[in-house]
Amino acid sequence: MSLRIVVCVKYVPDATGDRHFAEDLTVDRDDVDGLLSELDEYAVEQALQIADEADDAEITVLTVGPEDAKDALRKALSMGADKAVHVEDDDLHGTDALGTSLVLAKAIEKTGYDLVVCGMASTDGTMGVLPAMLAERLGVPQVSLLAEVSVEDGTVKGRRDGDTATEQLEARLPAVVSVTDQSGEARYPSFKGIMAAKKKPVESWDLEDLEIESDEVGLEGAWSAVDGATERPARTAGTIVKDEGEGGKQLAAFLAERKFI
Ligand SMILES: Cc1cc2nc3c(=O)[nH]c(=O)nc-3n(C[C@H](O)[C@H](O)[C@H](O)COP(=O)(O)OP(=O)(O)OC[C@H]3O[C@@H](n4cnc5c(N)ncnc54)[C@H](O)[C@@H]3O)c2cc1C
Repeated sequence: MSLRIVVCVKYVPDATGDRHFAEDLTVDRDDVDGLLSELDEYAVEQALQIADEADDAEITVLTVGPEDAKDALRKALSMGADKAVHVEDDDLHGTDALGTSLVLAKAIEKTGYDLVVCGMASTDGTMGVLPAMLAERLGVPQVSLLAEVSVEDGTVKGRRDGDTATEQLEARLPAVVSVTDQSGEARYPSFKGIMAAKKKPVESWDLEDLEIESDEVGLEGAWSAVDGATERPARTAGTIVKDEGEGGKQLAAFLAERKFI
């Protein structure tokens, strides 16, 4: 039987762009270009490698995001994923992590899955909580922050490198895993891959398709609220220490004053 892999990929605002909050303190996504979260490219790569090792596997890439989030799906398809699901609904505006995990979990259940692969964190929210929330909602084990991952005989195995120990972990499928940026370079889409991606199926679902009420998501359903935000102060000119014999002391004094040493 085919190994069904779902990779969760997020469309994030380009960090090199000028990002702003809208009046309701949500990210102004219309104001900035977006792209596939770089950390999710590692998740796509690991899914492709697992699929290569399997007799028969199918990779679905899934995103919850605005219309332009299709760009993230196209990139993952051009890397080699087989098909894509895009969940888009105006009522998703202001959804927090818990709401996002509900939408992703319902979409994953609807798609069908044996293994869910996530990135270690998104490059915008960077909470790193979605994989755990997804595993809880799906009622399956999670094996998170893997630097190496493989699937053998219905079991997902992996290595997690911690500060004090390296752990070898495994779980029976179905399961959720997240992979780190140490798991292996993500491939660049080839020209052939880019052309092939144009013909791969992209399904679009809204909240009704997933039987989610609009008050379960959006700003109304959010469990966290943003009370305020202030502009980052403009960069000030740095302090230049000229070494005329006392440079070292001046550097140490500078660091001590700011409690770095
Ligand atoms: C249209 C829209 C509007 C939103 N508005 C707000 C808002 O106003 N306030 C707010 O707090 N949050 C909002 N969110 C949710 C927020 O952007 C995050 O998705 C959510 O809070 C999860 O946090 P994170 O990105 O830090 O995820 P992490 O936990 O860091 O992500 C870990 C992994 O989960 C997966 N993942 C995360 N998000 C998605 C996704 N959307 N689609 C597919 N896979 C994903 C990826 O594999 C990622 O690597 C909105 C989301 C969308 C799509």
